[in-house]
Amino acid sequence: MDGGSEADVSSALLGEHFETHLFVSAINSGKKIEGYKKGLLEVHNLRRRHRELVKEMLRRGYNHRSPLDDFQWDHAGWVNRKKSLEELARRCKACRKLQKEKRKKWKQR
Ligand SMILES: [Zn+2]
Repeated sequence: MDGGSEADVSSALLGEHFETHLFVSAINSGKKIEGYKKGLLEVHNLRRRHRELVKEMLRRGYNHRSPLDDFQWDHAGWVNRKKSLEELARRCKACRKLQKEKRKKWKQR
């Protein structure tokens, strides 16, 4: 968030909260969510993120009546992400190089 108005922050908050619910239902319906947000989605952090968002919503006086569904973890994309990255690297030289560079960056952090 870029320090927008209070209303902007609220709508971003509600939007992100809605997104977490969308993700979970997408996961549970077996949809492929790999590559969503360029693989930046951290499925294992969804629940924690949702909890934070709800806390902030309640603080701002919003209601929260929709508990987050249970995940079907075996449907979650990130379980297969490693595999699909390996597959990509096997078939595509440029991808292989890209992944190598990314890994380097991660290590530096
Ligand atoms: Zn919720």
